[in-house]
Amino acid sequence: MRYISFSWDDGFRRSTLRTAEIFEKFGLRAEFNIITDWTDNATLRSDDTPFADWGVWAEMKQRGHIVHPHGTNHTNKAEVPLVEAQKLILHCLDTFDKKLPGFDPRQAIFAMPYLATTPELDAWFPSVVRAFRPGGPPINPLPGPNTVRINTGGAEDCEPWLLENIEQLLAMDEGWLVLCVHALDDEGWGPVRSSFLEELLTRLTTLPNLQVLPAIDVLNLHSK
Ligand SMILES: [Zn+2]
Repeated sequence: MRYISFSWDDGFRRSTLRTAEIFEKFGLRAEFNIITDWTDNATLRSDDTPFADWGVWAEMKQRGHIVHPHGTNHTNKAEVPLVEAQKLILHCLDTFDKKLPGFDPRQAIFAMPYLATTPELDAWFPSVVRAFRPGGPPINPLPGPNTVRINTGGAEDCEPWLLENIEQLLAMDEGWLVLCVHALDDEGWGPVRSSFLEELLTRLTTLPNLQVLPAIDVLNLHSK
């Protein structure tokens, strides 16, 4: 089997609502990764692109989408001491627990900001979450019951990068491509056009031996 997981970072409000709508059109669940401080202060951005608030995330969950932790803030965890990184991660998980109904850390994939991690964090993550998502070759082997590290990649010029990696996966018999994407149209870092996403999903959902699934679903399917 081949899988493609789209992993949407940062949680801009408009892009989130649009992404969910597009995924729903194809009967798919979207998977979002959010920063708790930004979610707490969702409307305080000065450039007219607010983040989604906790109400939106609760609704996303109710509609079948998935919301994962991406940090208390966007600190690069490889650039701070281990205890500081752990403190920020635990605070993020604690805020999820308080503010997102039904949050279960055993079903959470921590999406590393800047895709940055350290060997110490890699070893520690399984004690606090199900898995973590740092940078690495974005085509992963199919997971097993002990998979905790899910490699991903991303690019500012996102559309050609997506197509290139998807073609690579389609040339293989099996594999799991995990794509770190951000927002739609003119929001966020390295956005993709809504029309591009719709065309892409139209194509991907008709190909044989390929499933577009959230990363947590792929993990759960292969956990036994
Ligand atoms: Zn981010």
